[in-house]
Amino acid sequence: MATATLSIDLDAIAANWRALDRLSGASTQTGAVVKADGYGLGSGRVARALAHAGARRFFVACSEEGASVRQALGEGPQISIFSGHMAGDTDMIHDLDLTPMLNSIDQITRHLESLPGHSFGIQLDTGMNRLGMEQGEWEAVAALVLNAGPELIMSHLACADDPAHEMNAAQLAEFHAMTDGLDVPRSLAATGGILLGPEYHFDLTRPGIGLYGGLPFETCAPTVALSLPVIQTRELAIGETVGYSCAWVAEAPSLIATVAGGYADGLLRTLGNRAVLWAGDVPCPVVGRVSMDAITVDISHLEQIPRKLDILGPHQTIDDLAEAGDTIGYEILTGLGARYARRYIEGTGRS
Ligand SMILES: *Cc1c(COP(=O)(O)O)cnc(C)c1O
Repeated sequence: MATATLSIDLDAIAANWRALDRLSGASTQTGAVVKADGYGLGSGRVARALAHAGARRFFVACSEEGASVRQALGEGPQISIFSGHMAGDTDMIHDLDLTPMLNSIDQITRHLESLPGHSFGIQLDTGMNRLGMEQGEWEAVAALVLNAGPELIMSHLACADDPAHEMNAAQLAEFHAMTDGLDVPRSLAATGGILLGPEYHFDLTRPGIGLYGGLPFETCAPTVALSLPVIQTRELAIGETVGYSCAWVAEAPSLIATVAGGYADGLLRTLGNRAVLWAGDVPCPVVGRVSMDAITVDISHLEQIPRKLDILGPHQTIDDLAEAGDTIGYEILTGLGARYARRYIEGTGRS
């Protein structure tokens, strides 16, 4: 079968949530961000595993994502929408009991007029300039909003993966200035913010990447493994080339394996001539370009031809692969393609 196998360890995801929950502290609730289909790993399966571990508040990017998480979780857990209340989403927000994080005065008006009494939160901009209301807008509507009973006031840090960045303290001060004294639960920290320390935790944290085994949560458990089957091998003489644009030239007699998986599966073209795959404990360099469905690998040094090579696993995390491909672990995860045979690991009793 020329289908690669993506193993997703739901027990490791649950263990990462518990670890981040401990780091968040006893007086802070720990949510779970399952946007982008659970960072590419399957939002339904991930959300159910996290609910089982104790998570009660889930965050997604848009209402459609909220609908599929609601279907997986059933009634009860709160599902919040970062993009807020968009035109056309009112029925879905109402029928599926979604909680939009309102980003603008337009959204506040839409929400309070169309669904009075329905739960909502508020997103404030403390300097990232992406989503949420700035100080002036917030002051103009705060009284009206507070009267309607928001569930949460949140903001998002731009540089939390860099503890030394001065933006962190600036945003923290701005968040205090905009929210101190209000009798509403507050949330500022995603994974990076949790690691910055207790003054960033407030009432609720919103980890995403750390649940899935990515930096900046250095002590996390890895959650994914990806094995690519070897389709064919061939011997190359000195001077022969491999793949598109002849981007690799054999300088010695070489044995090249072609494995199933390519940029259509989220294995980025930038990995060409740069990444390594693993035959058990032995690294094997990618040679030539990554093509749509295939990657070529130098296995000259192996004693046996392997049936598969691992691109994610014990020797190569999402962040290792991201570094080879000049991107971040988030992009590796969320790019994992639809063609893999997905195998979920659950209930091994590990915690
Ligand atoms: C994506 C996102 C998160 C989660 O961030 P991580 O860095 O993955 O932990 C939290 N809050 C908001 C607003 C987000 O957009």
